[in-house]
Amino acid sequence: MKLDDLPIRDDLRGRTPYGAPQIDVPVRLNTNENPYGPSASLVDDLAEAVRRSAGELNRYPDRDALALRRELAAYLGHGLAPEQVWAANGSNEVLQQILQAFGGPGRTAMGFEPSYSMHPIIATGASTEWIAGAREEDFGIDPAKAVAAIGEHRPDVVFLTSPNNPTGTALDPEVIARIVEAAPGMVVVDEAYFEFARTGTPSALTLLPDNPRLIVTRTMSKAFAMAGTRLGYLAAHPAVVEALLLVRLPYHLSSLTQAAALAALAHRDELLGTVDALRAERDATVAWLRAKGLAVADSDANFVLFGHFEDRHAVWQGLLEHGVLIREVGPPGWLRVSIGTAEEMAAFRAALEETL
Ligand code: PMP
Repeated sequence: MKLDDLPIRDDLRGRTPYGAPQIDVPVRLNTNENPYGPSASLVDDLAEAVRRSAGELNRYPDRDALALRRELAAYLGHGLAPEQVWAANGSNEVLQQILQAFGGPGRTAMGFEPSYSMHPIIATGASTEWIAGAREEDFGIDPAKAVAAIGEHRPDVVFLTSPNNPTGTALDPEVIARIVEAAPGMVVVDEAYFEFARTGTPSALTLLPDNPRLIVTRTMSKAFAMAGTRLGYLAAHPAVVEALLLVRLPYHLSSLTQAAALAALAHRDELLGTVDALRAERDATVAWLRAKGLAVADSDANFVLFGHFEDRHAVWQGLLEHGVLIREVGPPGWLRVSIGTAEEMAAFRAALEETL
């Protein structure tokens, strides 16, 4: 039997799943992970936290993850209270819950592409029609054009990604504010890469007090170097969190996840201590690629989009043959490299020089 023989939903027929290749090569620079693993002392604390939690695994976890939300609110600052914070298994699950609550059959969600490929996939999974808006040549969003597109389509949910994946482009909060004002429904600012933004870039969190229809999502997968933990979160008006309680599965966040995330938050200085080095490596990568005569998008994230190549697949393949895995994503002719350690970036540069 094949997939198509099953009585699957019509809107899922012919679709392909999300699929960044997971290939075991020496240098993995393809999924925007933080290349630095936890220190021995953090591993010990994580193990101890999980050990303590393991003694009560006969019980369901705290359904509302109150202790974790308190710590996440303290980390975010901006005067946020725990009732304004919500957490789930990765920001992907947070986004899914948002679409379950605010999208759904007969409703639409809109994003400005190129952007994170999971936004339309999660929308489709939540039976929400996807509307693709466009970014400018420099991958920014023109507020007047965005406001016009929103006026035309009246989407129930608008996605803004800042810094954007795969381009690295950060949005000015003034652009976000104009879009929130124009949007008839919810506006989600996906700030998965916020901690990597160039210093001085304000977060959309600054707009929350005046905008109850704004949601800012974050993750511990990137700057926090905890992708394996699967912990994403959001900040919004407390009523938004109440809406998400209607769709979340009870006990969605395991006690082990909550314990690990709390231990990681207690070590946030160590974990976020890699951000400066990654920013510097990113800026050096941008400069090096430009010196090679390549086109490079300005980046506020832990990855760099570069091109254009006649045959980007051949370049991707050439790098892979040198043991360096990057990502074939973004507009035709462009490739994305995640920022790794200094050694990994040296391997990337050497492999690219040989490939070109
Ligand atoms: N948003 C953006 C823009 C991303 O690039 C990613 C990860 N690639 C996510 C959300 C999801 O991350 P996670 O589910 O690990 O929190």
